[in-house]
Amino acid sequence: MGDKSSIEWTDSTWNPVVGCTRVSEGCRNCYAYELHDRRHRAYTAGKKLPEQYAKPFKEVQLFPDRLAQPFHWKRPRRIFVNSLSDLFHDDVPDDFIWSVFEIMAQSPQHTFQVLTKRPQRMAALLAGRYWRDLGTPDRPFFAKIIKGEHRAGDVPFLPNVWLGVSVENQRAADERIPLLLQTPAAVRFLSMEPLLGPVDLKGWIYPGWDGDIRKAIPAPRVYWVIVGGESGPNARPMHPDWVRSIRDQCQAAGVPFFFKQWGEWAQVHELRCNEPGIKGKPWFNFNPDTSVCRIGRKAAGRLLDGRTWDEMPEVVR
Ligand code: SF4
Repeated sequence: MGDKSSIEWTDSTWNPVVGCTRVSEGCRNCYAYELHDRRHRAYTAGKKLPEQYAKPFKEVQLFPDRLAQPFHWKRPRRIFVNSLSDLFHDDVPDDFIWSVFEIMAQSPQHTFQVLTKRPQRMAALLAGRYWRDLGTPDRPFFAKIIKGEHRAGDVPFLPNVWLGVSVENQRAADERIPLLLQTPAAVRFLSMEPLLGPVDLKGWIYPGWDGDIRKAIPAPRVYWVIVGGESGPNARPMHPDWVRSIRDQCQAAGVPFFFKQWGEWAQVHELRCNEPGIKGKPWFNFNPDTSVCRIGRKAAGRLLDGRTWDEMPEVVR
């Protein structure tokens, strides 16, 4: 669990929960799932590995001893919460979720990025009654938040917590983004990785948002979009125009756009098919004009139309 993460859009990962189950097409080649179960098999075969590999990934495990980890990170940083699970999985008890939120409330120097494929539960918990039940003497930090200035209507939210949903195709967008927009948050974002089809972001992105959350709350919109292709042995190809379309929608709306990576497949001119590193690699033809080649994640890189796209929300707290 990382003091330093290799994920381009965060600084560190924090995993008080490990394990999950698949919910949609975006989960098919879940990297965390495959890596964990490989290590689980090695663990059961007698290899010395950390205790978390004693169970398979589909068994959600809680690690209360990891809850305090952000307190030990003194330098302010962006922290991706549960890169090896989904905080809103049914098997994570409400009380444990509140404990995670309590730690985030007590760590205002950090920015927490919570990403889910289960926005129904996130909305039910965070847009609803639970805040009213939490301002009890044994949870003093919630009492502070509940009385504080950060609220959408009657419902408070943590100014240092960004909430996001994973969106792999239009169906996931139509199901998940409206639920994200019902949930009060300092910043709402999309992780479109692996991107598996074209997506129209419709009216969900916010024209002209200037980063001041006090102005943003009355008009809930998506404020940040991350796009990436799939990695790993069974990675599916991503059409370059799907990425360009999302970038163009974000630019038109003034929403920060972050292009994480192409994944395993990248558009390569067919005249280059005999070059070293490309010769003999598999090709996939979307149509006569667009082919991509499986050149590997490293070689595919993260340039889109000749440059990197590393835009992030600039938030005034
Ligand atoms: S929700 Fe995320 S962690 Fe869970 S199986 Fe799907 S991709 Fe993996």
